[in-house]
Amino acid sequence: MKESSVLDDVFERFLKEAHVFKDREVLRHDYVPCQLPHRREQIRYIGEILAPALKGSRCSNILIYGKTGTGKTAVVKYVLSKLVNKAREFGDLVKACYVNCRSAGTEYRVLSILCDALGVKVPFTGLSVGEVFDRFKVGIDSNSLLFMVVLDEIDSLIKARGDLLLYELTRINEVLRHSKTSIVGISNDLRFKEFLDPRVLSSLSEEETVFRPYDATELQDILRDRAKSAFYDGVFYDGAISLCAALAAAEHGDARRALDLLRVAGELAEREGFEAIVEDHVRRAEKRIEHDRITEALRNLPSHSKIVLFSVFLLGKVKINSAITGDVYEIYCELCCQLGLTPLSQRRVSSLINELDVIGLLNSRVVSMGRYGRSKKIRLGITRSLIREVFTTDDRLRCLINYEPRCLVGTSSNRS
Ligand code: ADP
Ligand code: MG
Repeated sequence: MKESSVLDDVFERFLKEAHVFKDREVLRHDYVPCQLPHRREQIRYIGEILAPALKGSRCSNILIYGKTGTGKTAVVKYVLSKLVNKAREFGDLVKACYVNCRSAGTEYRVLSILCDALGVKVPFTGLSVGEVFDRFKVGIDSNSLLFMVVLDEIDSLIKARGDLLLYELTRINEVLRHSKTSIVGISNDLRFKEFLDPRVLSSLSEEETVFRPYDATELQDILRDRAKSAFYDGVFYDGAISLCAALAAAEHGDARRALDLLRVAGELAEREGFEAIVEDHVRRAEKRIEHDRITEALRNLPSHSKIVLFSVFLLGKVKINSAITGDVYEIYCELCCQLGLTPLSQRRVSSLINELDVIGLLNSRVVSMGRYGRSKKIRLGITRSLIREVFTTDDRLRCLINYEPRCLVGTSSNRS
């Protein structure tokens, strides 16, 4: 069959046989549903804090925490859009701008998104952060406004860049003459406060609230609501929903995970021509998601971490089931040399090993070596085939897949 007729076939089959999804967008992460079960209290609390804006008063800054998938983003976007709509009835006094700090990445980008919401033009690059901040101040104050700044995933910006921007933002009302600003900060990391200067913390957290994880029953309610809009009537999915909710609750009550499971399970069912999503689809969806999560994590590792991981992989080839830091470091240096890179210090490599351990790509444990002190035993935390799969598509490391480290030549037989 020619390529075009293969595709015709795929499309025809899809149109004829796809009887599962009425609207798959409904199961995506950034979809804000019109109902948010089990978050009424939080919606009310945030609504009460932001309501003074309707009468032109500055509202308190709020800090919202909670693990991923506890509905923080959805609830804040929901409350904000209702607030802005309500405010329109009284003129254009309230403006709001939502920024995801993790995707924005830098203070410059965060500020230029805020400027954009005010109609202030900022070039893509070229100004200093201070200059952009000045334009932002002039922009807000050129009207009489209540400007709500939502800084979502603020923890990632603070950890990477420090809290200077937050410091400036929390003090901005002191210099504004016509307008006022309120900040809603959202953090996925519960330890986020430790990264803040006490002055910033106290003004940012005039109010604060924690979103606790959902339990399995709550997740079921959330999924059932979404499933009604996502799937055609008559598609059977009760068992699948219970399992998705149970799996997500067992992890950390993450609604995003539950929705992902249901979406991928639905896709499997559809592709296989089923009109029911059953538990087996969910089980396979779980495997698929896990596989994608790991390959994604592997692909995005910084080069030196990849080389460290690869060193452990090569050690495994000669059947050394668990290596010690020194072995890994020796191969690591050899690989760096092959690739024309300057190796990092052993101490630094040791901390890369810890990071890889935290994300589950390596397993390491400290063992006592008697009078030689202590060392770390290190094993791969994922399958060898997965590493091979990802690294064969890595332009830089591909050439090393079949590499035989000089320092291992001759060791395979006596160590296995
Ligand atoms: P967080 O920002 O805490 O990581 P999100 O608000 O992004 O979590 O929620 C993750 C996903 O779960 C989104 O698709 C969101 O619509 C959905 N979700 C979370 N809580 C609820 C809820 N109470 N009702 C319906 N959907 C929800
Ligand atoms: Mg979020």
